[in-house]
Parts: sequence; structure tokens; C-alpha cells
Amino acid sequence: MFKKLKQFITSSMRMSHIYQPVMLIELLRSKNGSATDEHIAKKILGYDKSQIEYYTEIVEKMPGTVLTKNRGITELVDGKYFLKGYQYLSQEQITELIELCRLKIRSFEEKRKGAHWDHRKKGRKPISGSIRYQVLKRAKFKCELCGISASEKALEVDHIVPKNLGGKDDISNYQALCYTCNSQKRDTDNEDFRNLEKVYEEREAGCIFCEIESSRIINENTLAYATRDKYPVAEGHTLIIPKRHVKDYFGLFQAEINAINALVIEEKEKLGKDTSIEGFNIGVNCGEVAGQTVFHCHVHLIPRRKGDVKNPRGGVRHVISGKGDYKMQDLL
Ligand code: AMP
Ligand code: ZN
Repeated sequence: MFKKLKQFITSSMRMSHIYQPVMLIELLRSKNGSATDEHIAKKILGYDKSQIEYYTEIVEKMPGTVLTKNRGITELVDGKYFLKGYQYLSQEQITELIELCRLKIRSFEEKRKGAHWDHRKKGRKPISGSIRYQVLKRAKFKCELCGISASEKALEVDHIVPKNLGGKDDISNYQALCYTCNSQKRDTDNEDFRNLEKVYEEREAGCIFCEIESSRIINENTLAYATRDKYPVAEGHTLIIPKRHVKDYFGLFQAEINAINALVIEEKEKLGKDTSIEGFNIGVNCGEVAGQTVFHCHVHLIPRRKGDVKNPRGGVRHVISGKGDYKMQDLL
């Protein structure tokens, strides 16, 4: 057995991380060659320098300061904490104090139900419960990458643009991801994405925007396309449309909103080359009473030129006729 293990460790062990030798060390060091997964996990954690650095800083800033400076229970000498009066404690008293500390930990953990570790999830700030709920609801309680339902796999709220790349802490930058997609965001294993494809493949027979001729598509990305409006209100009037059949803007997934926004910007840039265009209106009609006539979501991108209407003040406010220019209301 020794020879076999030695041969394995020295020659055939292929490593993508330090996990295998750490696990073997723990099994070898145990009393009977066994160890639980949790025990091994904790040992792996011990090798993670970023974790150690993080908690070293925590010790210095929090319990270290509180117990030393505020409470006078410990002393700090040459980078080492000393429990004052330790030499006067009997072994029994030490055992009792340890048990009391354990009780404190347990009751705190029960009360917080693990929420006191949320800030460690991928180094993110905790996202409030109500925002979390809004994000999950917007995602229809499905992972926005693979489409799996929350009832099958726990969903997490993820920053679309990571915080360290300047991503914001607001709902537009959040998406719901299942644990697997969140931890393997960059892993594009097709297997994982079949559910997603299903979600985004939704089309409706007879819908003009689901059945658009490809020759009329002027720009597209994975989830959305752009076409010129058939009855333009101005030259260059463009519609940005999610490929999935979805009634209105409020039914969009965050990924589709991002895809639409990318095309709005690209088309605006292209139209902007026409020097007669000096402004734009971006508009979405949601619901019949709001003027929607085609019930497959679309975003109007309307180029505006000087003098195209007599009084442009108010822009999209003109959807309620006569109310566009609020200054005019003052005069009435
Ligand atoms: P809405 O009234 O916001 O639902 O907008 C529907 C838009 O679709 C209008 O601006 C129409 O001019 C435009 N439209 C209607 N039929 C077509 C079509 N077959 N292709 C492109 N645009 C269309
Ligand atoms: Zn459609």
C-alpha cells in the first residue's frame, strides 16, 4: 500500500489545485485514515492566503481591538494576544469558559441563520432582502443564465458587471443566477445552457416581430435585434426588439434589457452620423391604454431634427396631447 500511495503521490497525481495532497495529508494524519468532507474543506481553507489575510485584518480591527483596548481582557505584545490572568485559571474553569463561548456562537448563529456570512459570498456586500426578492421576481424565479427554476436549485443575486470592474450596487446590475452558474460564470459548457436556450426560444406564430424577415434586420445580438419601423414617424425611426416573444418591457429579463440597451446605443451611434439628427427619443408603449399596438415588446428609437415639430419642449410628455410643454400649462 505504501508503495502504491508513494507512486501515486510522486508520479501519477495530476493537480489542478492543491486539493488532492491536502486531502491525503488529512487522511494520513487522522487516527484511522478517515476524515469528513467538512474537515478536509476546513483544512483547504487554511491554505487559502486570501482568507487568512482577510481574517487577520478582522482579528486586528474587531475582537483584537475590542478585547484589548475597550475591555482590557487581552493584551497585545509583539503581535501576540495574551489573555490577562490566564495563569490563575484552573483547567476546569478553562473548559467551562470555552463551553460558554461555544454556546454564545451557537445562539448567535441560530438567531442570524447564517446571514452573518453573506458578506463573504464572493466578496460582495449583502443585498437587502427586498431587492433580492425584486431581482428574483423579475427573473421569474429562474436562473438568468441556465433557466433552471428556483425550486430545483437555489438562486443567488449576482452582479452582472463585477464590483471590482466598476459594476454598480443597484438593481440594473443584478441578475438571478443559480449556484452553479454563479460559481462558473465563465464556463460555457453547453450542457448547462440548454434550459436557457429554451427560455429565450419562445416565439409566437403570426407575431410580426417573431416572424420578421431576416433581410429587415439591420443589427442584432444574441437576445435582441434592430429593424427600421415600417411606418416611421421620422427618417431613421428604429425599433429594438427582443428575439423572445414577450408582451412588453416589464416582461424582459435583465439579460434582454442589457442586449436591447446595447443595440439602442449602437444604432444611436450609427444614426448620429447623419448630421441633421441632433437628438433622440427613446420610448416604449406598454399596454393598449398607453398606445401599444404590437404586443411583442419593442423600444422606439426616434431620431429628432431641429424644426421637426413646432414646439419640441416636453418630448415624450406629448403622449398626453396638450400636456407636453409644462410651461404652456402655466400660461393656461
Ligand atoms: P407600438 O404602437 O408601440 O406598439 O408600435 C408598433 C410599431 O410597429 C409602430 O411604430 C409601427 O409603425 C410598427 N410596425 C407595424 N408593423 C410593422 C412591421 N411589419 N414591421 C416593422 N414595424 C412595424
Ligand atoms: Zn412575438
